[in-house]
Parts: sequence; structure tokens; C-alpha cells
Amino acid sequence: LAAITASPYKKDFPLLANNPDLTFLDSAATSQRPRAVLDAQRRFYETMNANPLRGLYSLSVEATQAIEDARNHIASFIGAVDEAGNPQGNEVVFTRNTSESLNLVARTLGASILKPGDEVVISIMEHHSNLIPWQQVCRQTGAHLVYLRANDDFRITQDEIEEKIGPRAKIVSVTQVSNVLGVENPIRQIADRAHQMGAYMVVDGAQSVPHLKVDVHDLGADLLAFSAHKLGGPMGIGVLWGKADILNAMPPFLTGGEMIDSVTETDAVWAPVPQKFEAGTQDAAGSYAFDADLTYLESIGLDTVERRERLLASYLTQSLAALDFVDVIGPLEGERHVGAVAFNVRGVHPHDVASILDGSKVCIRAGHHCAQPLLAWLGQSSTCRASVAFYNDKEDIDRLVEGLKTVWQVFNGN
Ligand code: PMP
Repeated sequence: LAAITASPYKKDFPLLANNPDLTFLDSAATSQRPRAVLDAQRRFYETMNANPLRGLYSLSVEATQAIEDARNHIASFIGAVDEAGNPQGNEVVFTRNTSESLNLVARTLGASILKPGDEVVISIMEHHSNLIPWQQVCRQTGAHLVYLRANDDFRITQDEIEEKIGPRAKIVSVTQVSNVLGVENPIRQIADRAHQMGAYMVVDGAQSVPHLKVDVHDLGADLLAFSAHKLGGPMGIGVLWGKADILNAMPPFLTGGEMIDSVTETDAVWAPVPQKFEAGTQDAAGSYAFDADLTYLESIGLDTVERRERLLASYLTQSLAALDFVDVIGPLEGERHVGAVAFNVRGVHPHDVASILDGSKVCIRAGHHCAQPLLAWLGQSSTCRASVAFYNDKEDIDRLVEGLKTVWQVFNGN
């Protein structure tokens, strides 16, 4: 536990440094941002601001370069490199967030390949962002949605994978880490089965990229979606990584300026990827700031970040499980939690728990966590969720535990 006391990282995060009495345990919703990101955002607008891609003058070229550098940095961060180790920035499409990345895939790849009777396989653990786009495209094309279900131990088994991913599966889209339960799904096994059946493998990395070393090739992903705002980057920057040949074959999503090569009165030729998917002025400052965020994370060391977050998630799970008035919803083994732990205080509505904790400046999430089918499967209408990032420390978790004791006293009077 000595390794997770007195976080040395809070000083790098202005909001945390300026509010030492705040206990922020909602990083799964959005993380805090390090000063390096705030400085970069400002630096962009003060020194490099021009519309990227449009201008031929050097300021605009610099803005364009900022985006391209960020693409390459992101590519190397997620292992999208060629055999010589060169980052494949052209495989990185900027979107606004994970939701937009997944909508892009459903509406372009999904809408163009799915036929009546085909199957799209997702899991019962999906965030609505990896569920509703597929519901919609299935309705539009006549394809069916099939669910991989977890067993009582919150695992998707090999038997389940083989039973549910069959020859009719054309797209399999699964979250690597559940934003509610915090468990990691066996993406490699799911991807191998998907590929055996000739299906595409889409991975929702919103909760995994911030906490685990993700390597798109090791994972077996064809497409990966995630959001910068969950790992320290700005809000409004999302990523869709895809294998170049797949992105090339996909039709465009939004259309208009910047995404074309040439236009006539009646037709248009698309720009090569990734620009084909980036209509209109991009958030160059955001990309530049996200690049700075990755540099900051690498300066700490991704191994250190991952190791520390695993210790914190483990300690969080154990601390909650040790309270006899709290039910952990999900595995009790701390090491199975990546970032998030769901729980309930017996007999107390999660919204009341969160409001009372707020009185002692402890921030947690309460509700359905945008995963209503999962909550229905769990037999819950809502839960509390605490989640950690590397800047948290043992003291944050201890303050949550003290706050929960107060909640219990408020409702039980002793
Ligand atoms: N998928 C998962 C697993 C998530 O946790 C989230 C965010 N809670 C999303 C998708 C959606 O991310 P965003 O709101 O950034 O689009």
C-alpha cells in the first residue's frame, strides 16, 4: 500500500492541486487534465492558430503538422505501427468522442455490408454508445443483434463466444473493459472467433485505453474507438483507429469540406483516409493538446500508470467489499477490476449515496451508467460507481470509505 499513498501526480493536475479536499473518484466518466494539456491548448491558440489543411502559409502548415504529429503519436501509443516500427498515423481518424467513432463505423461499414438475416454481435456489457448505433443499423438493414452474455462470474466464456459468433456474424463489436463492472473481456478470443467466421472485430476502448497498454494488433482489432477525455486529453477529441484497407473500403460518414479530393456539379471524389472521414474544420488545438497528454503519460511511464491503477482498483474493491453494509456489484477479486467498481449501499438509493458523499466532497457516479441492458441483467435499476486513475491515492479511497460510513449512519442512525 505504500506504493499508492500520497499521490505524487496530483500536483500536475490544476483542479486537484487547487482543491486538496476534493476526492475525485469518477475518472471513468471523464479524467482530470494535466497542466501539460491546458498549456498546450493555450500554446496552440497563441502561437499556431490557423485553419489546418486550408492555408499554404506557414502558420496553417504548422497547424496541419500539429494534427499529423498527433496522429502518429496516437498510432504509436496504441501499437498501430508497421513492421519497421513506424507509426501508421493514416490509420487514425479524429472524431469528437467514442460515441461518434462507433456511430461512424455502424453507419458506414455497418450500413454498407449488412443484409437481412446477418448478425451483429455485441455483449451485454455495452455502453449505450456501442449498442444504439447497432440497434439502429440493424433496424435499417434487417440484420439481427446478438448478445454475448457473461456467466455468474462476470466472464464471457469460450463456449459463449463459439455459440454466439457463428457464420451469420458480419460485425462483432465489444467493449474491452466494462464501464460499470470494471472487468476486462477476452477480446483476443472474441476477435479470433470473429475472424474465423469472416466478421469484422470492432473494439470499444473507451475504458481500456486509459488504463491498459493496448496494442491493436495483439488485441486482434480491426477498428478501435476511444475518447481523449478519459485519459487526460481534451473533451471533444475522439479516435477511430482502423486497418488502412478497411478504412479505405468504408464509405464516408459526414460529407463536405476537407474530405474531398475533387468536386464537380454532380459528383465528388473522396480524399484518402483519414481525411475522408474528417469533414469540416478539425479541432487542431485539441489534437495538439492530446499529443501533449500522451507525452505527459509517457514521461510517467505507461507501465507505472498501469501498475499503480491496478493497485488502486484492487484496494478500492477490497475496501468496499470489507464494508458489511455495501454490496460490490461485480467480481470481489480486486485484481479483476480495471479502473471502476460498482456497488450499492444496502437499502439506500444510489442518488442519495452520491449526494451525501458530495457533502464531504467525494465525487462518484450514480445511475444506470449508460448501460441499461447490463443493469437489467444484473437485476439493478441503478448503482453507485467509484473509479480511479493513476493520480488517485489510498487517501482518496479511505475518504470514500469514511463517507460511506456517514451515509450508513444517516440512514440507520447509529
Ligand atoms: N464506451 C464506454 C465503455 C464508455 O465508458 C463510454 C463513456 N462513459 C463511452 C463508450 C462513450 O464515450 P464518449 O461519451 O466519450 O463518447
